[in-house]
Amino acid sequence: MTKNKVTIIVVVWIVLFGLFVALSEAGRSETELFSFAKKEMKIEADITMPEVVFVSKLYLQYLWASRNIGVHDKWVEAMGKEEADKMWNRYMDEIIGLFDPRFDPSVIYIDDSLVLCKKESILVHEMVHYLQNYNGGRMNGLLNRDAEGHFFAEMQAQSIEKKFFEACLVSNN
Ligand SMILES: [Zn+2]
Repeated sequence: MTKNKVTIIVVVWIVLFGLFVALSEAGRSETELFSFAKKEMKIEADITMPEVVFVSKLYLQYLWASRNIGVHDKWVEAMGKEEADKMWNRYMDEIIGLFDPRFDPSVIYIDDSLVLCKKESILVHEMVHYLQNYNGGRMNGLLNRDAEGHFFAEMQAQSIEKKFFEACLVSNN
């Protein structure tokens, strides 16, 4: 075998191996995750998929902070600067996904550094919020956007996220 042939075989093997690693880490498709969220919410209608954008945590923090400056002012009024800062920092620390229908009604942002099952379950969580807000919130009886409505929306997203996460852990082992 010539040296060139050996080089070509090694290169092909590296490319195939790389592809295999990429595919095995890719997990489920966004369509599958979307179907999971819809099924859990008992939504059968044909709904346009949201656009999913994977970004750094720093970018998520920037997006959230730049869109919620007024929120910080309100917190300062309500609870004083110290508590408001604490709460603000907690949001900045904990943000890993964002769906914000006020600015991007069809875009979901996800922290790209999360491990696979966490990343997918946070995506499912944000997809639930997307579905809750779809068509002006007329899906899933979520027209009511008062505190109780928000609480229900968050509980629903968290329970579907948890169910997906547990199933993901089992299927990936
Ligand atoms: Zn949520």
